[in-house]
Amino acid sequence: MSKSHPHKARKRFGQNFLHDAGIIRRIVACIAPKEGQRIVEIGPGKGALTEGIISVTKRMDVVELDRDLIPILRVNLFRYPDLVVHEADAMKFDFLSLTEQGNIRVVGNLPYNISTPLIFHLLSFADHIDDMHFMLQKEVVDRLAARPGDNLYGRLSVMAQYYCQVDNLFIVGPESFDPPPKVDSAIVRMTPHKTLPYVAEDLKQLEDSVRIGFQQRRKTLRNNYKGVLNDADFEALGIDPTLRPERLDVKDFVNIANHLSNKD
Ligand code: SAM
Repeated sequence: MSKSHPHKARKRFGQNFLHDAGIIRRIVACIAPKEGQRIVEIGPGKGALTEGIISVTKRMDVVELDRDLIPILRVNLFRYPDLVVHEADAMKFDFLSLTEQGNIRVVGNLPYNISTPLIFHLLSFADHIDDMHFMLQKEVVDRLAARPGDNLYGRLSVMAQYYCQVDNLFIVGPESFDPPPKVDSAIVRMTPHKTLPYVAEDLKQLEDSVRIGFQQRRKTLRNNYKGVLNDADFEALGIDPTLRPERLDVKDFVNIANHLSNKD
């Protein structure tokens, strides 16, 4: 693939292009694409990851916001007539339109400035996605995969793990990118549960319950849920109100949300 095209990386689009062939091979090996699979890439850039995937699947949909990159991408991937390029903002893109023939797989070396809202957006239709592989800031991957009691366990961990099995795969250093980002990156695999282990009756209630629970991490649950849950509620839930929120697992938050749904 030609890498000689002049294109100044745009900070506002979170552009850090992968140039390390060994890392690209490792990511593609984790994704393990198969011919005919429907894989959607967010932010293909100049096609560093795209080529490793489409050379196996033969077709692919990619969503790229920077219109100046699209001609470069097309030149680099001219051998693949079934590459469909959507010039769009992934935050507004209708991914469901790509699921008409079945579930999709999603991949991307995501623009770091929008990675968290984008993941929340994708989780809202997780039942149409077989799996997701993302390159993210290492700290975001650590948050997604954190377990109760870990320092980085919080709202993102609970919501991601409500929908998905989260696997922290490997770290990628700044030297693998051009330009190099300031921080380490990591690859995460998120596999939506085929059947949710715990089901919130009202998703909005779950999101609110998790947000309220973590509003002050150093405070107790009794404090954070003041005016929402009283000691009798905690007793009915079998949850100790003197704990800090980081002690609760996904099941506890689902129980809190369902208790509140039935209380109103
Ligand atoms: N996949 C390429 C690679 O690994 O070299 C590029 C990765 S770069 C970190 C992020 C890519 O996402 C850029 O191509 C950028 O233009 C694109 N991008 C930024 N914001 C976007 C958005 N809202 N929707 C779709 N693509 C976006």
